[in-house]
Amino acid sequence: MKINLNNLSISIERDQNKMVKNEIIKRGIKPENIERIEHVKRSIDSRKKSEIKFVYNLEITLKEAVSNLHKDFSIPKEIKMEKRVPKKDMGSIAVIGTGPAGLFAALRLCEYGFKPIIFERGEMVDNRDKAIESFYSTSVLNPNSNIQFGEGGAGTYSDGKLNTRIRSGYINKVFLELVESGAQENILWDYKPHVGTDILKVVVKNIREKIKSLGGEFHFNTLVENVVILNNKVVALDIRDKFGNKERLPFDRVLMGVGHSARDTYKMLHKNGVFMENKAFAVGARIEHPRKDIDEMQYGKFVNHPLLEAATYNLAYNNREEERGIFSFCMCPGGVIVNAASETGGTLVNGMSYSTRDGEFSNSALVVGIKENEFGDELFSGMKFQESIERKTFELINNYGALTQNVLDFMNNKTTTRQLKSSYPMEMKNYDLNNLFPEVISNNMKYAMKHWEKTQRNFISKNANLIAPETRTSAPVRITRNEFGESISTKGLYPIGEGAGYAGGIVSAAVDGLKIVDYIFTDLVD
Ligand code: FAD
Repeated sequence: MKINLNNLSISIERDQNKMVKNEIIKRGIKPENIERIEHVKRSIDSRKKSEIKFVYNLEITLKEAVSNLHKDFSIPKEIKMEKRVPKKDMGSIAVIGTGPAGLFAALRLCEYGFKPIIFERGEMVDNRDKAIESFYSTSVLNPNSNIQFGEGGAGTYSDGKLNTRIRSGYINKVFLELVESGAQENILWDYKPHVGTDILKVVVKNIREKIKSLGGEFHFNTLVENVVILNNKVVALDIRDKFGNKERLPFDRVLMGVGHSARDTYKMLHKNGVFMENKAFAVGARIEHPRKDIDEMQYGKFVNHPLLEAATYNLAYNNREEERGIFSFCMCPGGVIVNAASETGGTLVNGMSYSTRDGEFSNSALVVGIKENEFGDELFSGMKFQESIERKTFELINNYGALTQNVLDFMNNKTTTRQLKSSYPMEMKNYDLNNLFPEVISNNMKYAMKHWEKTQRNFISKNANLIAPETRTSAPVRITRNEFGESISTKGLYPIGEGAGYAGGIVSAAVDGLKIVDYIFTDLVD
């Protein structure tokens, strides 16, 4: 028999295993009846700095069934994936992009016996590594192989945080698949699971090999230049390899998981009559602190406690008057700031970390919500705004790099004059970011900072620096789908993942890929 015990808090100063068992026994379970105790979730409650606790959701396997369970126990509800069988005669199927959406869609198709052809503009992970290293040392960007583009998509060079706000039976499958492909097992129960870029690279390669073993076919260094649409239906793809060789290949169905940075691909789709619309997104800067400052902010006197990892935070401020959120995003404890450019002549930052999260600094995006038509009603007005900030930054530095400013100087409209310390590997130029951003961004960042100055120790301090700009937090457009996951304008075209505007983050993009395949290529059975 299995039972759950949720929200069990135990001080980090106590022996965790012993206390967990004691708490179960205290609630009437005989010790000899406990077969196994598993963590379903474990989180840290650090709201009271004098008493930090782990909070557990547990699944306990009992050798014998027990009646009259204590009220704190519950019987687990089994989350089952719906049973599905593949449809027949679906024709030839292409998947564009090997980010989480494309990879998981391809995997699902293979599991159903389809043999998708997968196109990826960037290189396989090992060569992509070299392209990024070369970019950092030479400042020559490969617009098809960089932090955004290449095997594994934008998620490969990330912190690999797997938090998601969505609830879906598909999440379990994503996590199990990641573990089977080399991710740490504790992602199955940790409240804030993360993988780290070093392990993600292995995971991505293993998923690729699994797809290949099931009949999927990969074409790396292959840009889909054009989706050929006839009578509002996809009929073919025009592809170009890295030597410039072009080919037109007929396809009946295309799953499009191109991410939010493929501006050329968005424009091509629009030109070909695919319907899309502007959507809200967010823009701001990375904020970076010495890791110890953030650990102290979150853990107080427990700062170096051996059971505690590098601390994370999640901050949000609501500007009610403007109905606008200002929030931290994609926090990378013990991580590094990276240059996330994918277009020649534009520069921007993002953050990633390694599985150990033991770097000297901790960083996070600090961004201001931008409404869907805030910079103009015409399609792509938001995307053009992102692009203009990236280009302006490039022009100010006269290279790829980042603009930097101490937080206190930013709040006082003063250019920082000292050289700032950062994990960022490329050129940094001190600049008053109030002159980079429109007021709607800089003013709102300051409102939030003033609030956090009072509420979050160490957060707004001489040690906190801004590295800018952070422009690509989410897609600025949505390629609108119908209830079956198909483009509302174009038959046979299935936009998936973050670029489609239906996901944000690794897990939700992967779930979207799985879900849309199930919608389209299978029938639900009882
Ligand atoms: P993407 O991952 O963007 O993949 C799209 C793929 O399509 C790319 O590989 C691209 O090369 C390819 N492509 C584009 N156009 C074409 C074309 N025309 N032809 C062929 N191929 C094409 N999310 C988290 O949940 N946790 C994190 O810790 C996290 N950290 C991040 C850190 C960084 C540095 C970045 C950049 C992003 C991070 N994210 C994180 C966001 C996350 O990576 C994305 O939400 C996720 O990867 C989106 O998945 P996707 O499959 O929809 O698109």
